[in-house]
Amino acid sequence: MYKIERKTIVENVKRMLLESVKTLDKEVLDSFEKSRENEDNPLAKSILDKIIENHEIANSKDIPLCQDTGLVVCFLEIGRELNFDYDLEDAINTGVSQAYIDGYLRKSVVKHPLNRINTLDNTPAVIHHSFIPGNRLIIHIAPKGGGSENMSALKMLSPSDGKEDIVNFILETIKKAGGRPCPPLIVGVGIGGNFEKVAWLAKKAILRPLGDVTENEIDRNLEIELMEKINKLDVGPMGLGGVTTCIGVKVNSYPCHIASLPVAVNLQCHSARKNEVILVGKEINDTDNR
Ligand code: SF4
Repeated sequence: MYKIERKTIVENVKRMLLESVKTLDKEVLDSFEKSRENEDNPLAKSILDKIIENHEIANSKDIPLCQDTGLVVCFLEIGRELNFDYDLEDAINTGVSQAYIDGYLRKSVVKHPLNRINTLDNTPAVIHHSFIPGNRLIIHIAPKGGGSENMSALKMLSPSDGKEDIVNFILETIKKAGGRPCPPLIVGVGIGGNFEKVAWLAKKAILRPLGDVTENEIDRNLEIELMEKINKLDVGPMGLGGVTTCIGVKVNSYPCHIASLPVAVNLQCHSARKNEVILVGKEINDTDNR
C-alpha cells in the first residue's frame, strides 16, 4: 500500500488555487491572441485586447483575474493502491479554506441556497471521485465562476431527436446566454448516461486541454461542427458581436438507456481557470500498517 501525507494534499490544493485564479493556461492565452487576429469587428478585437491585458495585470500585480473567484470544483482520480488514514475530502476543503483566507480571495459560497449565509472560507468544494490503477492521486481543480455556471443547461431529449436537436439545443443555450457567461467560452458538452451523469460529463469536458482531440469519432465530429456553428452566432467576446464566441468545444459521451438522450452543456467563461497535480504515494511498510 501507498500513502500521501494529508499536508501534501492541503498544500497542493492551496497552491493550485492561488496560481489558477491569477494565471490562465498558455494554450488559452494563445487562443485569445489568435482570435484577436481573426476578428474584423473592432469592438471584439478591443475586448480581446482587454482580456489579454487583464491577464498581464493579474500576473504582474499578483491579483485575481476576476472578482468572482468561483466555487471550487475538484475531480479526484484515486490510485487503488493508496491508503488514506484521514478524511480526503476534509484535506481538499482545508486547502480551499487556506487559499481563500490567506489569498484574500472572494468567498462565494453560502451554507444553504435559501438562507444565503456565507461559509466565510469558500468551502465546501464540489468533489467528484473516480478510481485509477496504481499509487497516484491526480487532483484536477477549477474555481468556477457563477456567471458562466448559471447559463449552463441540461435537457432530456428523446432518442428520436438525434444529433440535429442536440446541436440546436446547444446553440440555443449559447445564443440565449449572450454576454452573461463572459465569452469567449469553452463549451463542455455531455451526451448520454442519465440525469446526473450527463452534467458530470459536461463539467469534466471543460477541464480537458484545449488541444485535446477525443478518440471517439462521433464526439470529435460534433466538436468540429459545434465550434464552427457557435462562432457563427455573432455573440462574440462579452456578447458584443464577433466571430470569437468560443475558443473550444469539448464533447464527452457515455452509454445511455434506450429510452433516453440526455444532453448537458456547461459553459466556461474567458477566466478559464484550472489546475492539476499528480501526487505519487510513498510505500508503507507492513509494520507501519499494524
Ligand atoms: S463568468 Fe467568469 S469572467 Fe464572468 S464574472 Fe464570472 S468568473 Fe468572472
